[in-house]
Amino acid sequence: RSKRRGRGQITVYSKEIAQEMKRATQLEQALRNAIISNAIDVHFQPIVSLANNLIVGFEALARWNDADLGFVSPAVFVPLAEERGFIDALSETLLRKAAEAALSWPRELFLSFNLSSAQLMDPGTSSSILAILGRVGFDPHRLELEITETAVMSSADTAHRIIADLRAAGVRISLDDFGTGQSSLGRLRDFIFDKVKIDRAFVSRINSDRASEHIVKAILAMCEGLDLEVVAEGIEDYAEAVKLRSLGCAMGQGYYYGKPADSVATLRYLHENYYELAGERESA
Ligand code: C2E
Ligand code: MG
Ligand code: MG
Ligand code: MG
Repeated sequence: RSKRRGRGQITVYSKEIAQEMKRATQLEQALRNAIISNAIDVHFQPIVSLANNLIVGFEALARWNDADLGFVSPAVFVPLAEERGFIDALSETLLRKAAEAALSWPRELFLSFNLSSAQLMDPGTSSSILAILGRVGFDPHRLELEITETAVMSSADTAHRIIADLRAAGVRISLDDFGTGQSSLGRLRDFIFDKVKIDRAFVSRINSDRASEHIVKAILAMCEGLDLEVVAEGIEDYAEAVKLRSLGCAMGQGYYYGKPADSVATLRYLHENYYELAGERESA
């Protein structure tokens, strides 16, 4: 009986595998075309000061809406682009688009941009980023680059050199998704970071799980001692915002403040949520 079922399963599996492979090839081909035809866009999500709800910057997030495949998550196509060697082309286009859009924002706002681990293994990354900023005319002091712990560890010497070169030019470095993955507190001892982004996993449980609250408190205390700025990621409601502010977290980001939006909607968001408030604060 099990043999019969086994045979059946073999047929089913090979069909599934064939379908899966076909989809993977389609996805790769579509991604290649999307990069060549400049179809991947960049959206922006606000980062605010929790003390006064004022916007301090925006994180650029890649968006791909394919005619055939529909919406494809960057969590899917960024790793695929890395694997297939497209990440440089993709990232250069996205940084150029993001920096061009950010030229229309108030000068005191920063642009945060995600770097992938493959880019931290490529010694050409720092000069390529600075060249793009130069061409666009975007001040490196207004750029922050978000990287993850795994990215720094995978090719430590090259990564450290790239980060040092970028910081020397005024670019600031954020440690993204802090507290997840292959976390190593020792990384913070290298003093290569300016900012830590507390992962959404802790933020979303901060009012329901004592352990998460203690972890966030510990991260905040550590960042204060190490003179690192802190952003809480994935704030979705008022209660989370209030709790994080009361714990002394300086900055926040999440759907509660704004979802990622295209460059036009971002300018509208600034008009509705920034200029008037910032002006009031200045004249007060
Ligand atoms: P990330 O850098 O940690 O970005 C935060 C992710 O959380 C984004 O997902 C954002 O849309 C989402 N998010 C923000 N606020 C909330 C919230 O309140 N609730 C929930 N549930 N989610 C929230 P997204 O845009 O799908 O990006 C996923 C990941 O893909 C990013 O994680 C980043 O690692 C990567 N990524 C996105 N754009 C780029 C890019 O241009 N280059 C590189 N290398 N990676 C990128
Ligand atoms: Mg990020
Ligand atoms: Mg993150
Ligand atoms: Mg992430």
